[in-house]
Amino acid sequence: MFDFTKEQLEWRDAVRDFIAGLDPGSRAENVHVASELKGDNTWLAQLRRKGWLGIGWPREYGGLGKSIVEQWILIDELTAAGLPRLGDGVNMIGPAIIEVASEQMKRDWLPRILSGEVEFALGYSEPEAGTDLARLRTRAVPDGDEFVINGQKTWNSSGHFATHEWLAVRTDPDAPAREGISILIVPIDSPGITVSPIWTWGGARTNDVFFDNVRVPRANLVGELNKGWSYVMTALNLERFAIGGVGELRAQLPVLVRFLASTFRGGRTLWDDPRVRERIADLASRLHAARLLSLRNVRLIDRGEVSAAESSMVKVWASELRMEFADTVTEILGAAGQLTAGDRRAPLRGEYEHLYRKASHYRFTGGTNEIQRDLIARRGLGLPRQSVGRRGSPTPKN
Ligand SMILES: Cc1cc2nc3c(=O)[nH]c(=O)nc-3n(C[C@H](O)[C@H](O)[C@H](O)COP(=O)(O)OP(=O)(O)OC[C@H]3O[C@@H](n4cnc5c(N)ncnc54)[C@H](O)[C@@H]3O)c2cc1C
Repeated sequence: MFDFTKEQLEWRDAVRDFIAGLDPGSRAENVHVASELKGDNTWLAQLRRKGWLGIGWPREYGGLGKSIVEQWILIDELTAAGLPRLGDGVNMIGPAIIEVASEQMKRDWLPRILSGEVEFALGYSEPEAGTDLARLRTRAVPDGDEFVINGQKTWNSSGHFATHEWLAVRTDPDAPAREGISILIVPIDSPGITVSPIWTWGGARTNDVFFDNVRVPRANLVGELNKGWSYVMTALNLERFAIGGVGELRAQLPVLVRFLASTFRGGRTLWDDPRVRERIADLASRLHAARLLSLRNVRLIDRGEVSAAESSMVKVWASELRMEFADTVTEILGAAGQLTAGDRRAPLRGEYEHLYRKASHYRFTGGTNEIQRDLIARRGLGLPRQSVGRRGSPTPKN
Protein backbone atom coordinates (compact mmCIF):
# COMPACT_ATOMS: atom_id res chain seq x y z
CA MET A 1 0.00 0.00 0.00
CA PHE A 2 2.80 2.46 0.86
CA ASP A 3 5.53 1.58 -1.62
CA PHE A 4 6.22 4.20 -4.24
CA THR A 5 6.06 2.96 -7.82
CA LYS A 6 9.16 3.10 -10.02
CA GLU A 7 7.78 6.25 -11.71
CA GLN A 8 7.12 7.89 -8.35
CA LEU A 9 10.65 7.14 -7.17
CA GLU A 10 12.02 8.62 -10.39
CA TRP A 11 9.88 11.68 -9.82
CA ARG A 12 11.18 11.98 -6.25
CA ASP A 13 14.77 11.77 -7.51
CA ALA A 14 14.07 14.42 -10.15
CA VAL A 15 12.69 16.72 -7.44
CA ARG A 16 15.72 16.05 -5.24
CA ASP A 17 18.07 16.82 -8.14
CA PHE A 18 16.22 20.05 -8.80
CA ILE A 19 16.55 21.11 -5.16
CA ALA A 20 20.22 20.08 -4.94
CA GLY A 21 20.96 22.18 -8.01
CA LEU A 22 19.43 25.37 -6.60
CA ASP A 23 21.75 28.29 -6.17
CA PRO A 24 21.55 29.35 -2.46
CA GLY A 25 20.70 32.89 -3.60
CA SER A 26 17.50 31.63 -5.20
CA ARG A 27 16.11 30.33 -1.91
CA ALA A 28 15.25 33.80 -0.54
CA GLU A 29 14.72 32.88 3.11
CA ASN A 30 12.25 34.66 5.39
CA VAL A 31 9.06 34.26 3.44
CA HIS A 32 6.23 32.14 4.79
CA VAL A 33 4.58 31.31 1.46
CA ALA A 34 6.46 30.73 -1.79
CA SER A 35 4.23 33.04 -3.82
CA GLU A 36 5.55 35.98 -1.79
CA LEU A 37 8.74 35.53 -3.82
CA LYS A 38 9.06 37.91 -6.74
CA GLY A 39 11.47 37.88 -9.66
CA ASP A 40 12.74 35.45 -12.29
CA ASN A 41 15.61 34.01 -10.34
CA THR A 42 13.84 32.48 -7.36
CA TRP A 43 13.43 28.72 -6.93
CA LEU A 44 9.69 29.23 -7.44
CA ALA A 45 10.28 30.88 -10.83
CA GLN A 46 12.57 27.97 -11.76
CA LEU A 47 9.95 25.45 -10.66
CA ARG A 48 7.38 27.32 -12.73
CA ARG A 49 9.63 27.30 -15.81
CA LYS A 50 9.93 23.54 -15.49
CA GLY A 51 6.13 23.34 -15.62
CA TRP A 52 6.01 21.64 -12.21
CA LEU A 53 3.49 23.87 -10.46
CA GLY A 54 0.18 22.39 -11.56
CA ILE A 55 1.47 18.93 -10.98
CA GLY A 56 -1.87 17.23 -10.31
CA TRP A 57 -3.82 19.41 -12.74
CA PRO A 58 -5.04 17.90 -16.03
CA ARG A 59 -2.73 18.52 -18.98
CA GLU A 60 -5.41 20.45 -20.88
CA TYR A 61 -5.17 23.14 -18.19
CA GLY A 62 -1.39 23.35 -18.23
CA GLY A 63 -0.76 20.74 -15.53
CA LEU A 64 1.38 17.60 -15.57
CA GLY A 65 -1.59 15.29 -15.09
CA LYS A 66 0.25 13.39 -12.37
CA SER A 67 -1.33 11.75 -9.35
CA ILE A 68 -1.79 13.38 -5.99
CA VAL A 69 0.93 11.05 -4.64
CA GLU A 70 3.41 12.84 -6.90
CA GLN A 71 2.10 16.16 -5.64
CA TRP A 72 2.63 14.91 -2.10
CA ILE A 73 6.21 13.91 -2.98
CA LEU A 74 6.95 17.38 -4.37
CA ILE A 75 5.60 19.11 -1.24
CA ASP A 76 7.40 16.65 1.05
CA GLU A 77 10.74 17.23 -0.66
CA LEU A 78 10.38 21.02 -0.85
CA THR A 79 9.48 21.33 2.83
CA ALA A 80 12.24 18.87 3.79
CA ALA A 81 14.65 21.25 2.05
CA GLY A 82 13.36 24.09 4.25
CA LEU A 83 11.52 25.83 1.40
CA PRO A 84 8.19 27.49 2.21
CA ARG A 85 4.86 26.03 1.16
CA LEU A 86 3.44 26.77 -2.29
CA GLY A 87 0.63 29.31 -2.45
CA ASP A 88 -3.11 28.72 -2.14
CA GLY A 89 -3.70 29.37 -5.87
CA VAL A 90 -1.78 26.29 -6.93
CA ASN A 91 -2.61 24.11 -3.93
CA MET A 92 -6.28 24.81 -3.44
CA ILE A 93 -8.01 27.34 -5.62
CA GLY A 94 -6.81 25.96 -8.97
CA PRO A 95 -8.01 22.43 -8.11
CA ALA A 96 -11.29 23.86 -6.76
CA ILE A 97 -11.81 25.82 -10.02
CA ILE A 98 -11.10 22.66 -12.01
CA GLU A 99 -13.73 20.84 -9.98
CA VAL A 100 -16.55 23.38 -9.76
CA ALA A 101 -16.16 26.34 -12.16
CA SER A 102 -17.40 26.87 -15.71
CA GLU A 103 -15.18 26.06 -18.69
CA GLN A 104 -14.81 29.79 -19.40
CA MET A 105 -13.62 30.45 -15.86
CA LYS A 106 -11.11 27.60 -16.11
CA ARG A 107 -9.69 29.08 -19.34
CA ASP A 108 -9.61 32.57 -17.79
CA TRP A 109 -7.98 31.81 -14.45
CA LEU A 110 -5.97 28.58 -14.50
CA PRO A 111 -3.16 29.76 -16.85
CA ARG A 112 -2.81 32.94 -14.80
CA ILE A 113 -2.43 30.95 -11.57
CA LEU A 114 0.29 28.80 -13.12
CA SER A 115 2.16 31.79 -14.54
CA GLY A 116 2.18 33.48 -11.13
CA GLU A 117 0.21 36.46 -12.43
CA VAL A 118 -2.62 35.59 -10.03
CA GLU A 119 -2.43 34.47 -6.40
CA PHE A 120 -5.37 34.05 -4.05
CA ALA A 121 -6.18 34.87 -0.44
CA LEU A 122 -8.84 32.73 1.26
CA GLY A 123 -11.63 35.07 2.31
CA TYR A 124 -13.77 32.90 4.59
CA SER A 125 -13.40 33.81 8.28
CA GLU A 126 -15.06 36.87 9.80
CA PRO A 127 -14.98 38.29 13.33
CA GLU A 128 -18.26 36.51 14.15
CA ALA A 129 -17.85 33.55 11.80
CA GLY A 130 -14.78 31.41 12.32
CA THR A 131 -15.59 27.87 13.34
CA ASP A 132 -19.24 28.45 12.58
CA LEU A 133 -18.49 29.76 9.11
CA ALA A 134 -22.09 29.48 7.96
CA ARG A 135 -22.80 32.62 10.01
CA LEU A 136 -20.74 34.79 7.65
CA ARG A 137 -22.30 38.18 6.96
CA THR A 138 -20.24 39.84 4.23
CA ARG A 139 -22.95 40.74 1.70
CA ALA A 140 -22.84 40.74 -2.10
CA VAL A 141 -25.86 42.37 -3.73
CA PRO A 142 -26.47 42.13 -7.50
CA ASP A 143 -26.56 45.52 -9.28
CA GLY A 144 -26.80 45.33 -13.08
CA ASP A 145 -23.83 43.34 -14.36
CA GLU A 146 -22.02 43.61 -11.04
CA PHE A 147 -22.10 42.56 -7.39
CA VAL A 148 -21.61 45.17 -4.69
CA ILE A 149 -19.77 43.83 -1.64
CA ASN A 150 -19.80 45.15 1.93
CA GLY A 151 -18.36 43.52 5.04
CA GLN A 152 -15.19 42.34 6.75
CA LYS A 153 -12.95 39.28 6.58
CA THR A 154 -10.37 38.42 9.20
CA TRP A 155 -7.34 36.09 9.45
CA ASN A 156 -6.90 36.70 5.72
CA SER A 157 -3.41 35.27 5.55
CA SER A 158 -2.36 36.11 2.00
CA GLY A 159 -4.26 39.41 1.70
CA HIS A 160 -1.05 41.51 1.67
CA PHE A 161 0.60 39.77 -1.31
CA ALA A 162 -2.21 37.99 -3.18
CA THR A 163 -3.80 39.63 -6.22
CA HIS A 164 -7.34 38.26 -5.64
CA GLU A 165 -9.68 37.16 -2.88
CA TRP A 166 -11.49 33.83 -3.13
CA LEU A 167 -14.35 35.39 -1.25
CA ALA A 168 -17.25 33.68 0.51
CA VAL A 169 -20.20 36.11 0.55
CA ARG A 170 -23.84 36.01 1.54
CA THR A 171 -25.98 36.37 -1.57
CA ASP A 172 -29.32 35.26 -0.10
CA PRO A 173 -29.89 36.48 3.47
CA ASP A 174 -33.32 34.81 3.65
CA ALA A 175 -32.16 31.29 2.77
CA PRO A 176 -30.96 28.82 5.43
CA ALA A 177 -27.41 29.77 6.43
CA ARG A 178 -25.53 27.32 4.20
CA GLU A 179 -27.78 27.83 1.20
CA GLY A 180 -27.31 31.58 0.77
CA ILE A 181 -23.51 31.65 0.31
CA SER A 182 -21.63 32.19 -2.97
CA ILE A 183 -17.97 32.46 -3.98
CA LEU A 184 -16.71 35.51 -5.84
CA ILE A 185 -13.25 36.21 -7.23
CA VAL A 186 -12.38 39.76 -6.22
CA PRO A 187 -9.26 41.71 -7.29
CA ILE A 188 -7.63 43.00 -4.10
CA ASP A 189 -6.75 46.29 -5.75
CA SER A 190 -10.47 47.06 -6.28
CA PRO A 191 -11.58 50.48 -4.99
CA GLY A 192 -13.16 50.12 -1.54
CA ILE A 193 -10.86 47.36 -0.21
CA THR A 194 -8.62 48.05 2.81
CA VAL A 195 -6.08 45.47 4.01
CA SER A 196 -4.89 45.87 7.58
CA PRO A 197 -2.16 43.67 9.16
CA ILE A 198 -2.47 41.28 12.10
CA TRP A 199 0.93 39.97 13.25
CA THR A 200 0.94 36.49 14.73
CA TRP A 201 3.12 35.29 17.59
CA GLY A 202 4.99 33.09 15.11
CA GLY A 203 6.05 36.11 13.05
CA ALA A 204 3.74 35.48 10.09
CA ARG A 205 1.45 38.23 8.91
CA THR A 206 -2.27 37.74 8.43
CA ASN A 207 -4.87 40.47 7.83
CA ASP A 208 -8.22 42.06 8.36
CA VAL A 209 -9.78 42.97 5.01
CA PHE A 210 -12.60 45.54 4.79
CA PHE A 211 -15.01 45.81 1.83
CA ASP A 212 -16.79 49.12 1.32
CA ASN A 213 -19.11 49.10 -1.71
CA VAL A 214 -16.64 47.02 -3.71
CA ARG A 215 -17.84 46.23 -7.25
CA VAL A 216 -16.99 43.09 -9.21
CA PRO A 217 -18.43 41.81 -12.51
CA ARG A 218 -21.05 39.07 -12.26
CA ALA A 219 -18.70 36.97 -14.39
CA ASN A 220 -16.53 36.63 -11.27
CA LEU A 221 -19.12 34.39 -9.62
CA VAL A 222 -17.67 30.89 -9.22
CA GLY A 223 -20.01 28.08 -10.25
CA GLU A 224 -23.63 28.62 -9.30
CA LEU A 225 -25.19 31.34 -7.19
CA ASN A 226 -25.84 30.25 -3.56
CA LYS A 227 -23.86 27.01 -3.97
CA GLY A 228 -20.72 28.43 -2.37
CA TRP A 229 -20.83 26.31 0.80
CA SER A 230 -19.98 23.11 -1.02
CA TYR A 231 -17.17 24.90 -2.93
CA VAL A 232 -15.69 26.10 0.37
CA MET A 233 -15.73 22.53 1.67
CA THR A 234 -14.02 21.24 -1.50
CA ALA A 235 -11.19 23.74 -1.06
CA LEU A 236 -10.91 23.10 2.70
CA ASN A 237 -10.30 19.39 2.27
CA LEU A 238 -7.47 20.31 -0.09
CA GLU A 239 -6.12 22.76 2.51
CA ARG A 240 -6.05 20.04 5.17
CA PHE A 241 -4.15 17.83 2.78
CA ALA A 242 -1.56 20.61 2.36
CA ILE A 243 -1.27 21.20 6.13
CA GLY A 244 -0.76 17.46 6.69
CA GLY A 245 2.77 17.34 5.27
CA VAL A 246 5.65 16.93 7.74
CA GLY A 247 8.62 17.02 5.36
CA GLU A 248 10.46 19.62 7.45
CA LEU A 249 10.27 17.44 10.58
CA ARG A 250 11.60 14.46 8.64
CA ALA A 251 14.60 16.56 7.60
CA GLN A 252 15.12 18.04 11.07
CA LEU A 253 15.17 14.75 12.98
CA PRO A 254 18.68 13.54 11.96
CA VAL A 255 20.05 17.06 12.49
CA LEU A 256 18.53 17.05 15.96
CA VAL A 257 19.96 13.63 16.79
CA ARG A 258 23.47 14.71 15.66
CA PHE A 259 23.17 17.84 17.79
CA LEU A 260 22.11 15.87 20.89
CA ALA A 261 24.90 13.35 20.38
CA SER A 262 27.56 16.05 20.16
CA THR A 263 26.38 18.52 22.80
CA PHE A 264 27.74 18.05 26.30
CA ARG A 265 26.05 18.96 29.56
CA GLY A 266 27.48 17.93 32.95
CA GLY A 267 30.24 15.80 31.37
CA ARG A 268 28.04 13.71 29.09
CA THR A 269 26.14 14.25 25.89
CA LEU A 270 22.46 15.11 25.91
CA TRP A 271 21.95 11.86 24.00
CA ASP A 272 23.35 9.91 26.96
CA ASP A 273 20.34 10.91 29.03
CA PRO A 274 17.82 8.04 28.77
CA ARG A 275 14.88 10.43 29.19
CA VAL A 276 16.06 12.41 26.16
CA ARG A 277 16.48 9.26 24.08
CA GLU A 278 13.05 8.02 25.09
CA ARG A 279 11.37 11.26 24.10
CA ILE A 280 13.18 11.54 20.77
CA ALA A 281 12.35 7.91 19.99
CA ASP A 282 8.73 8.73 20.72
CA LEU A 283 8.84 11.69 18.32
CA ALA A 284 10.48 9.52 15.66
CA SER A 285 7.68 6.93 15.93
CA ARG A 286 5.01 9.61 15.74
CA LEU A 287 6.70 11.16 12.74
CA HIS A 288 6.69 7.80 11.01
CA ALA A 289 2.99 7.39 11.80
CA ALA A 290 2.26 10.90 10.50
CA ARG A 291 3.88 10.13 7.16
CA LEU A 292 2.03 6.82 6.82
CA LEU A 293 -1.29 8.42 7.71
CA SER A 294 -0.69 11.22 5.24
CA LEU A 295 0.36 8.81 2.48
CA ARG A 296 -2.67 6.62 3.11
CA ASN A 297 -4.85 9.70 2.77
CA VAL A 298 -3.33 10.77 -0.55
CA ARG A 299 -3.73 7.26 -1.92
CA LEU A 300 -7.39 7.28 -0.93
CA ILE A 301 -7.79 10.63 -2.69
CA ASP A 302 -6.07 9.22 -5.77
CA ARG A 303 -8.55 6.36 -5.83
CA GLY A 304 -11.43 8.85 -5.64
CA GLU A 305 -12.26 7.80 -2.08
CA VAL A 306 -11.98 11.24 -0.47
CA SER A 307 -12.77 10.92 3.22
CA ALA A 308 -13.28 14.07 5.29
CA ALA A 309 -12.58 12.06 8.46
CA GLU A 310 -9.23 10.79 7.12
CA SER A 311 -8.20 14.30 6.01
CA SER A 312 -9.06 15.56 9.50
CA MET A 313 -6.99 12.82 11.14
CA VAL A 314 -3.98 13.80 9.05
CA LYS A 315 -4.45 17.47 9.88
CA VAL A 316 -4.80 16.87 13.64
CA TRP A 317 -1.90 14.45 13.82
CA ALA A 318 0.53 16.57 11.78
CA SER A 319 -0.31 19.86 13.47
CA GLU A 320 -0.01 18.41 16.98
CA LEU A 321 3.21 16.61 16.09
CA ARG A 322 4.79 19.97 15.21
CA MET A 323 3.84 21.21 18.67
CA GLU A 324 5.23 18.07 20.30
CA PHE A 325 8.54 18.55 18.48
CA ALA A 326 8.66 22.17 19.58
CA ASP A 327 7.70 21.41 23.22
CA THR A 328 10.07 18.47 23.59
CA VAL A 329 13.12 20.06 22.01
CA THR A 330 12.81 23.45 23.73
CA GLU A 331 12.44 21.61 27.03
CA ILE A 332 15.58 19.52 26.37
CA LEU A 333 17.53 22.62 25.32
CA GLY A 334 16.62 24.42 28.54
CA ALA A 335 17.01 28.20 28.79
CA ALA A 336 19.21 28.32 25.67
CA GLY A 337 16.26 26.95 23.72
CA GLN A 338 14.58 30.32 24.09
CA LEU A 339 17.26 32.17 22.14
CA THR A 340 15.95 33.35 18.81
CA ALA A 341 17.32 32.81 15.30
CA GLY A 342 19.98 35.43 14.63
CA ASP A 343 21.49 35.07 18.13
CA ARG A 344 24.75 33.22 17.49
CA ARG A 345 24.38 31.39 20.83
CA ALA A 346 20.99 29.95 19.82
CA PRO A 347 21.20 26.14 19.57
CA LEU A 348 20.07 24.65 16.27
CA ARG A 349 19.92 28.19 14.79
CA GLY A 350 16.92 29.00 16.96
CA GLU A 351 14.68 26.83 14.78
CA TYR A 352 12.83 25.23 17.68
CA GLU A 353 12.25 28.54 19.42
CA HIS A 354 10.60 29.68 16.21
CA LEU A 355 8.71 26.41 15.78
CA TYR A 356 7.44 26.79 19.37
CA ARG A 357 5.79 30.09 18.43
CA LYS A 358 4.72 29.05 14.95
CA ALA A 359 3.41 25.51 15.52
CA SER A 360 0.26 26.45 17.38
CA HIS A 361 -1.21 28.21 14.38
CA TYR A 362 -1.52 24.95 12.44
CA ARG A 363 -4.05 23.87 15.06
CA PHE A 364 -6.37 26.67 13.86
CA THR A 365 -5.85 27.00 10.13
CA GLY A 366 -8.07 24.82 7.99
CA GLY A 367 -10.55 24.49 10.89
CA THR A 368 -9.56 23.99 14.53
CA ASN A 369 -8.49 20.62 15.86
CA GLU A 370 -11.43 20.45 18.28
CA ILE A 371 -13.72 20.61 15.28
CA GLN A 372 -11.65 18.09 13.33
CA ARG A 373 -12.00 15.67 16.24
CA ASP A 374 -15.74 16.22 16.25
CA LEU A 375 -15.77 15.48 12.54
CA ILE A 376 -13.77 12.28 12.99
CA ALA A 377 -16.24 11.21 15.68
CA ARG A 378 -19.29 11.93 13.54
CA ARG A 379 -18.20 11.05 10.01
CA GLY A 380 -15.50 8.51 10.80
CA LEU A 381 -17.06 6.72 13.77
CA GLY A 382 -20.74 7.46 13.20
CA LEU A 383 -21.25 9.05 16.63
CA PRO A 384 -24.21 11.42 17.03
CA ARG A 385 -23.83 15.19 16.80
CA GLN A 386 -22.96 16.60 20.24
CA SER A 387 -24.85 19.35 22.05
CA VAL A 388 -22.53 22.30 22.75
CA GLY A 389 -24.74 24.72 24.62
CA ARG A 390 -24.96 28.32 23.64
CA ARG A 391 -22.79 28.14 20.52
CA GLY A 392 -25.26 25.85 18.81
CA SER A 393 -24.27 22.79 16.85
CA PRO A 394 -20.70 22.42 15.66
CA THR A 395 -21.31 23.09 12.02
CA PRO A 396 -18.21 24.52 11.03
CA LYS A 397 -15.70 24.02 8.34
CA ASN A 398 -15.97 20.39 7.56
C1 LIG B 1 -2.64 32.10 11.70
C2 LIG B 1 -4.01 31.91 11.15
C3 LIG B 1 -4.21 32.01 9.77
C4 LIG B 1 -5.49 31.87 9.23
N1 LIG B 1 -5.68 32.05 7.88
C5 LIG B 1 -6.95 32.10 7.39
C6 LIG B 1 -7.19 32.48 6.04
O1 LIG B 1 -6.27 32.73 5.27
N2 LIG B 1 -8.47 32.59 5.62
C7 LIG B 1 -9.54 32.34 6.44
O2 LIG B 1 -10.68 32.46 6.00
N3 LIG B 1 -9.34 31.97 7.74
C8 LIG B 1 -8.08 31.86 8.22
N4 LIG B 1 -7.86 31.52 9.54
C9 LIG B 1 -9.02 31.36 10.40
C10 LIG B 1 -9.22 29.97 10.96
O3 LIG B 1 -9.79 29.12 10.01
C11 LIG B 1 -10.11 30.22 12.20
O4 LIG B 1 -9.28 30.79 13.19
C12 LIG B 1 -10.73 29.00 12.72
O5 LIG B 1 -11.68 28.53 11.81
C13 LIG B 1 -11.38 29.25 14.10
O6 LIG B 1 -12.21 30.37 14.07
P1 LIG B 1 -12.09 31.49 15.20
O7 LIG B 1 -10.67 31.96 15.23
O8 LIG B 1 -13.17 32.51 14.96
O9 LIG B 1 -12.34 30.74 16.58
P2 LIG B 1 -13.74 30.38 17.24
O10 LIG B 1 -14.66 29.83 16.21
O11 LIG B 1 -14.22 31.55 18.03
O12 LIG B 1 -13.31 29.22 18.19
C14 LIG B 1 -12.60 29.45 19.41
C15 LIG B 1 -12.34 28.12 20.09
O13 LIG B 1 -13.59 27.47 20.40
C16 LIG B 1 -13.63 26.17 19.83
N5 LIG B 1 -14.98 25.88 19.35
C17 LIG B 1 -15.76 26.72 18.63
N6 LIG B 1 -16.94 26.12 18.34
C18 LIG B 1 -16.89 24.88 18.86
C19 LIG B 1 -17.79 23.77 18.87
N7 LIG B 1 -18.98 23.86 18.30
N8 LIG B 1 -17.40 22.64 19.50
C20 LIG B 1 -16.18 22.54 20.11
N9 LIG B 1 -15.28 23.58 20.13
C21 LIG B 1 -15.63 24.72 19.52
C22 LIG B 1 -12.64 26.20 18.68
O14 LIG B 1 -12.14 24.91 18.37
C23 LIG B 1 -11.57 27.14 19.20
O15 LIG B 1 -10.65 26.43 20.00
C24 LIG B 1 -6.59 31.60 10.10
C25 LIG B 1 -6.37 31.49 11.48
C26 LIG B 1 -5.11 31.63 12.00
C27 LIG B 1 -4.93 31.53 13.48
